[in-house]
Amino acid sequence: MDEMGLIQNIVATAVNLAGQQGAHHIHEIKIQVGAASGMKPESVEQAFDRVKSGTIAQDAHLLLEYLPMVCYCATCNVEFQPIDPLLKCPECHQPHCEIRQGYELALQEVEIS
Ligand SMILES: [Zn+2]
Repeated sequence: MDEMGLIQNIVATAVNLAGQQGAHHIHEIKIQVGAASGMKPESVEQAFDRVKSGTIAQDAHLLLEYLPMVCYCATCNVEFQPIDPLLKCPECHQPHCEIRQGYELALQEVEIS
């Protein structure tokens, strides 16, 4: 996965949003990172530091919201956090349940002035 590219998109979106509102500085950018997105918080931070320089977000603080993986079993109608890579339902032990959360990598909030 191209972390730099993904983070660059997020920062570009934040910069556009700020621009549309006539802002000159971005103070804080909040990003949601899902546990299954393959993104490690430290690599998100490193990529962020590199792509923000030279933009109005260059002094921005990065806030990461780390989301655990959540699966759903239609048979039992339960949501659960999988504990093995087969995504087994804890009730009926059926594997490969639907993934409801965990692949997020998205801009959530931008604080501007
Ligand atoms: Zn089940």
